Amino acid sequence: MKNIAVLTSGGDSPGMNAAIRAVVRTSIYNGAKIYGIKRGFNGLIHGDVIEMNLSSVADIIHRGGTILRTARCEEFQTAEGLQKAVNIADVFDFDGIIVIGGDGSFRGARELSKKGIACIGVPGTIDNDLAYTDFTIGFDTAVNTVLDAINKIRDTTTSHERISIIEVMGRNSGDIALYSGLAGGAESIIVPEVEYTCDDVCKRLLQGKNRGKLHSIILLAEGVGKATKLAEEIHNKIGMEVRVTILGYLQRGGSPSAFDRILASRLGARAVEALLQGESGQAVGIRDNKIISEDFGKALEMKKTFNTDMYELAKILSI
Ligand code: ATP
Repeated sequence: MKNIAVLTSGGDSPGMNAAIRAVVRTSIYNGAKIYGIKRGFNGLIHGDVIEMNLSSVADIIHRGGTILRTARCEEFQTAEGLQKAVNIADVFDFDGIIVIGGDGSFRGARELSKKGIACIGVPGTIDNDLAYTDFTIGFDTAVNTVLDAINKIRDTTTSHERISIIEVMGRNSGDIALYSGLAGGAESIIVPEVEYTCDDVCKRLLQGKNRGKLHSIILLAEGVGKATKLAEEIHNKIGMEVRVTILGYLQRGGSPSAFDRILASRLGARAVEALLQGESGQAVGIRDNKIISEDFGKALEMKKTFNTDMYELAKILSI
């Protein structure tokens, strides 16, 4: 019988639980033993491991967060920490570990693979910043959360004939701003991938106002800069009143969307199958609605391409 372990690491994302459920149930279906490691690599180092069964993952497919908890673990990035993790994997006789997380977690999984512990990565992060996969688990839910906020802010922005800047997550990737901005009809979308000037934003605001628009919504990805600073700049330049909403951690919570649950279920199951087929050092993902796997090295090296078509379309539709 094979011994498989699963952990969640880095920032949590809605759908991680659905992925854990898929991993646990697919493992048991295939006759493997399945262990849950608590708090990411931290739990691995400290042997915080529990055996899981079919009921361990009952009633979690719709829950945000992660029942295994998550953490960031600096010790794991030292040679001693990595060795401790390898020792625990040996003690439990793990044949493989499934790591659900973002790029940092995949780097950790790659180090473990190099030490002979078979690892498969499942992309769990709201940022959608992994280039090898079209979507990461949690991104769609985060976009829907932002969209809900845009709808509400739009009501009050219209009533007061104001401008609103909504600051959303995305340090290096503007996908949350782009997708929610297009879906929410934002007047401007400001992302790290595309240069912008305050003058451009002001011009669009004035053009909108002159043709009778009652409100303007600007979506700003946090990686570009602070919303409060941009609000001040706009006010100083054209005297218009600007309100700021910073959505923050709200975007990481909530019940996962149907898309994220389905993605998590497919990727979690595929990760187990990969381990059972003797694969290691791979990240599973989705491309053109097909489940794929990619070497950690390549998956981490690939540079994400920003969807400029969608960006231009959003601009055209909000003139
Ligand atoms: P998110 O995208 O949500 O931030 P993440 O997985 O990228 O998720 P990180 O904090 O970057 O989150 O990484 C999670 C953990 O992975 C780290 O705390 C650390 O234990 C491990 N890790 C990150 N980078 C490396 C690395 N280069 N080598 C070994 N382990 C790493």
